Amino acid sequence: MEYVIEAENLTIMYDSVKAVEGLTFKLKKGETLLLLGPNGAGKTTLLRVLAGLHTNYQGKILVFGKSPSEVREKVAYVPQTFSLNFRVPLSVLDVVSMGGLYKKGLIHFNIPQEVIKRGLEILDFLGLKEIAKKSFRELSGGQKQRVIIARALMSNPELLLLDEPLSALDPKARIEATSTLSKIKEDMGITMIITTHDVNPLIEIGDKVMLIDRKLVAFGSPEEVLRDEIIGKVYGPAS
Ligand code: ATP
Repeated sequence: MEYVIEAENLTIMYDSVKAVEGLTFKLKKGETLLLLGPNGAGKTTLLRVLAGLHTNYQGKILVFGKSPSEVREKVAYVPQTFSLNFRVPLSVLDVVSMGGLYKKGLIHFNIPQEVIKRGLEILDFLGLKEIAKKSFRELSGGQKQRVIIARALMSNPELLLLDEPLSALDPKARIEATSTLSKIKEDMGITMIITTHDVNPLIEIGDKVMLIDRKLVAFGSPEEVLRDEIIGKVYGPAS
């Protein structure tokens, strides 16, 4: 059995304060995990540990069998963005290609042709090629989110961590972004963790659901976890 993530009794700290306590779970290759929990539950904190960006933790956490900081090149992290813009005007293709520029800590200032070619391939794959030359600033919120997800694919990640990718989007844009994620799951087989406050739009692509509230509340299939008596433990009884 090939596990992408193995966490055992994982406790994550900010200084000596425990933000997340005693998490144990495993995720298999190709699975999509929907990570739920109220504000302050520790979702972002967990993603940052998995991305190798936060190392103040105790217990066991293995990503591809190694410590997260050893496998950073296999992992792409898309932080939560309410409204993303760049200081300089950039085309969609520029923004996507920039995702292919960070290798071994080097940033190139001229985008090499092979990186641009790969950017176009990814935009084409996600059905975004027709907006490649458009100014990123002029895109709708939904298009921007899909472009940012496209950018994360430039490093050919094997694990994609997305922090509330749907939170700033209207219902139509949520559907479009979800279909982008679905395509990445089905056609690329990338293992994903997606944090969300609203599981409904993502339910079709979730193989596993984990509910946390600083500690693990529930982990299992959507049918096992998304039950009123479990969700009610954290969010109160359904009205
Ligand atoms: P939200 O749904 O609001 O994004 P979350 O589930 O992602 O919340 P986190 O942002 O991971 O929650 O926060 C978990 C806990 O860690 C909170 O109590 C928060 O105040 C604390 N925390 C987060 N970042 C820091 C930090 N840099 N320093 C100290 N404490 C922090």
